[in-house]
Amino acid sequence: MTVTIVRNASVLDPDSATLAEGQAVAVENGRIADVGPGLTGPGDAVIVDAGNRIVMPGLIDAHTHPAIVDEDVFGMAEWPPSYVAARAGRVLRGMLMRGFTSIRDAGAGDHGLARAVEEGYFDGPRMFYCGKQLTQTGGAGDWRAPSRVVYDRHYYTPAIGVICDGVAEVRRAVREEVRRGAHHIKVYLSGAVDSPSDRVDSTQFSVEELAAIVEEATAANIYVAGHAYTSRAINRGLRAGVRSIEHGNLMDASSIPLFKEFGAFYVPTIVTYQTLAERARAGLLPADIEAKLGHVIDGALGALELAHKADLPIVYGTDLFAGTHDQQLREFIIRSAIQPPADLIRAATTTAARLLRREGELGVIAPGALADLLVIDGNPLDDIRVLTTPDTRLKLIMKDGKIYKNEL
Ligand SMILES: [Zn+2]
Repeated sequence: MTVTIVRNASVLDPDSATLAEGQAVAVENGRIADVGPGLTGPGDAVIVDAGNRIVMPGLIDAHTHPAIVDEDVFGMAEWPPSYVAARAGRVLRGMLMRGFTSIRDAGAGDHGLARAVEEGYFDGPRMFYCGKQLTQTGGAGDWRAPSRVVYDRHYYTPAIGVICDGVAEVRRAVREEVRRGAHHIKVYLSGAVDSPSDRVDSTQFSVEELAAIVEEATAANIYVAGHAYTSRAINRGLRAGVRSIEHGNLMDASSIPLFKEFGAFYVPTIVTYQTLAERARAGLLPADIEAKLGHVIDGALGALELAHKADLPIVYGTDLFAGTHDQQLREFIIRSAIQPPADLIRAATTTAARLLRREGELGVIAPGALADLLVIDGNPLDDIRVLTTPDTRLKLIMKDGKIYKNEL
């Protein structure tokens, strides 16, 4: 196998927030084989000179929807999945070219899309997927208009959710996703902004159903991620054993001790709400969605501040869809009002890797880790904004040892 040596590298370590200058990184078989000064490879090694720039691990976005490719999400649910996949392929490539080498899909992306990336049919980040999100009848993932009765249970309709009610049905829904190789299970613990018939302040699924979902996921050695806004919904989820809370815009201090007790992660996704608010101001959102948005938009930064001050493990997430995926790096800028650059970098590297249960393998430049690395012009530890202009600042993108961009 070809060895690649990235030399003259200032290697960024997220956990210590330090740089090791004058390093070389040796890559072989898709993994980092060695890191140190003065490494040399065999005579046929590919040499990449980083020119003393910063070499950092590839970024992880832990809340994405590459398969939600159109504004009209309800209409999209009736499209042919082959067409959705073709458009998702372009979204995935965009993510990779922004420096995201791994993503956690939070619903709608499936095992076929992940496999297409893994086998090189699509250029994109490595996908950790959940398949369909579990939703109760009339819950946030039930995308039927209230007047519609028929529910198409066919798995390959590009809708985000699978409707399941009662302990037996939720167990089957989890087992179906496990059968398709899900890395985690996603469940709606509350209403959503973009759903046609529920309230954002509702709680969803019974305690018995949540317990059954967590039990089935745990049996398969995977975990549950929960969508929730209010502490009422968050706390029910945490007590049931949900491992990550997504969004949490309306969280209050009552959730903090539960996060700590259960070792749970917090995944805010503020950029998607700011993007939706901008579209509302431009008159581009349906009135009912705009009204729901009003309930959650103001709380988002306050919830982040609460979590940051309590030192919760906070992970990078964006939750963008359709034409807004190009805002994916803006979450760094929004969060920088609360969090220093080192915390932001950890959110998208080492802390995200812990959530994914891939610590040591993702989010670090170290022997044995997957060879996902970026060469950056500028120091993101000083100014996080250098990560947000990849067209000019991102000089090299490597995933699994393969180079997707090289402007060195
Ligand atoms: Zn989402």
